[in-house]
Amino acid sequence: MVPPSAFEQMATLLNQQGSHADIEQLAKQIRKGLNPHPSGQMELNIPEMENHKLAGMQHKYRQTLLFFPSQGQVCHSYCTFCFRWAQFVGDKSLRFSSSEVETLHNYLCLHKELTDLLITGGDPMVMKTHHLAHYLECLTKPELEHIQTLRIGTKALTYWPQRFVTDADADELLRLFEKLVRAGKHVAIMAHCNHWRELEPYMTQRAIQRIRNTGAEIRAQGPLLANINNNHEVWAKMWQQQVKLGIIPYYMFVERDTGAQRYFEVPLAKAWQIYKQAIQEVSGLARTARGPSMSAGPGKVEIQGVTEINGEKVFVLRFIQGRNEEWVQRPFFAKYNPDATWFTDLQPAFAEEKFFFEDEYLQMLAAKNALNLIPN
Ligand code: SF4
Repeated sequence: MVPPSAFEQMATLLNQQGSHADIEQLAKQIRKGLNPHPSGQMELNIPEMENHKLAGMQHKYRQTLLFFPSQGQVCHSYCTFCFRWAQFVGDKSLRFSSSEVETLHNYLCLHKELTDLLITGGDPMVMKTHHLAHYLECLTKPELEHIQTLRIGTKALTYWPQRFVTDADADELLRLFEKLVRAGKHVAIMAHCNHWRELEPYMTQRAIQRIRNTGAEIRAQGPLLANINNNHEVWAKMWQQQVKLGIIPYYMFVERDTGAQRYFEVPLAKAWQIYKQAIQEVSGLARTARGPSMSAGPGKVEIQGVTEINGEKVFVLRFIQGRNEEWVQRPFFAKYNPDATWFTDLQPAFAEEKFFFEDEYLQMLAAKNALNLIPN
């Protein structure tokens, strides 16, 4: 799945029985070339407090803080298409993580514009309940009343549903969700799901029921992946199954520009076709799924369609989220390119020199000394 040149280099070194140190060194070099932190996560998203960078957090969009608890930076699954693969390769310089509850609490207190806290990883559901409670119970304090929603990103619902059913502290976990719901929080399990087959096992369906009985909601999201789910029937059936089981379809993501993207990527034009056909095949309740959506540097960009305007074939795009809120929902256009697989492959349509947000985005990069993030 890595680029052929990287494969060749590693194969040669292994055949020559290179030393452990040399193999490690080459692996590190190859990883660096795989864009371990796409969309400027390291440079642009890490917040600061009292002149300190808060390495286990990301604050990209006004209302939502991402928190990476240190015990949750592993995963049940280890998907080869994971955009967070850098968390798992044992290189601390590539990893986001924080174990500081007090810092989290203080940051949330200071930022009254925040309404959502997203606990992410890795997979926070690998954590014991008492560790998770350590981070979450502070949300019930009056000074954090502005945090209305707690989201937990996880693959456990389909990969280790035992987490919610038979694990030793599964009941304790559900009591924690109940406690947060009773305290007036919206608890949302953001379940990673790629295929309807994942929803078939009895244990997963039991986990869904048990979570829903606590008052928590489950929303499902996942990437569109060549070789796995790149056809509309899979998505339509998956969204229908989700609605049937009480899950809210939330996102179809475009495979990000990192790691093994070359193996899993689907051209944007095809991605839109798959999304459009799948949406047409499901009822209104399953049309809550947004997409195809790219979590790009300037924001989350959705492909709304392909059309022709004044004889020019274009992609119609919009920001679902933006580094500047004023960009959100504003339609804009890119030249149609059947081979484009990521946002940075797109050029403005109608002979425009740049997209409407570009000057402002460049200023944001310059302010963080991150102009190197602009592709050549
Ligand atoms: S489940 Fe999510 S975090 Fe875990 S390896 Fe897969 S994509 Fe990555």
